[in-house]
Amino acid sequence: MTETSFVFPPPPRPSVAVRDRAERIAVRRVLCVGRNYAAHARELGNDDRQPPFFFLKPADAVVESGTVVPYPPLTRNLHHEIELVVVIGRGGAEIAAERALGHVYGYAVGIDLTRRDLQFQARDAGKPWDWGKSFDGCAPCSPVVPAERIGHPGAARIWLGVNGTLKQDANLSEMIWSVPEVIAAASTAMRLEPGDLIYTGTPSGVGALVPGDRVHGGVDAVATIEISIADPSAA
Ligand code: MN
Repeated sequence: MTETSFVFPPPPRPSVAVRDRAERIAVRRVLCVGRNYAAHARELGNDDRQPPFFFLKPADAVVESGTVVPYPPLTRNLHHEIELVVVIGRGGAEIAAERALGHVYGYAVGIDLTRRDLQFQARDAGKPWDWGKSFDGCAPCSPVVPAERIGHPGAARIWLGVNGTLKQDANLSEMIWSVPEVIAAASTAMRLEPGDLIYTGTPSGVGALVPGDRVHGGVDAVATIEISIADPSAA
């Protein structure tokens, strides 16, 4: 067997930890749902009855809980969005919602870091969202907990605090599109494979982060996550 050779050394493979296991999960793709909680859709000035839509983040933007995330360039309005993350464990396309949970390996808690000013400039100009949603370190993710350990969370508290002050506090039952419906919708657009992460949207209470902020969030019975925002002026 001939081994593939590369012009440049291949980059490190993005991965996430699994609770109580030495083995990690290689991250394939990072899909994110927009506007999946009615109160959050309204706080950003949108109608709350639209079908789910998706955007992507680069797989190598996934960072672990505990990371000090650099304050990203080009923005003056970096926002936190706490989200339940679904980890796909069995691939498929055109997955029926009734069978979608059979494709889930487990769950994690993520923060969809967002350059809100760039996102809104793009939205208002009819341009792609990518620069608002994709940058280095923009997808913090907790360790993954297998569904065989915790089942499939239906109604659970989802929350986030900044420097000890609660900013987002809601329940997964408030999601407009459920986890099975999100998987079904995503799998109509592309084939899902093991290692795909789906950030399922954030509840209301999003707001700005500044250098030095400590962010702590969680989904009860799933996991917690902690990050801080680096202060370049302190370097
Ligand atoms: Mn989001």
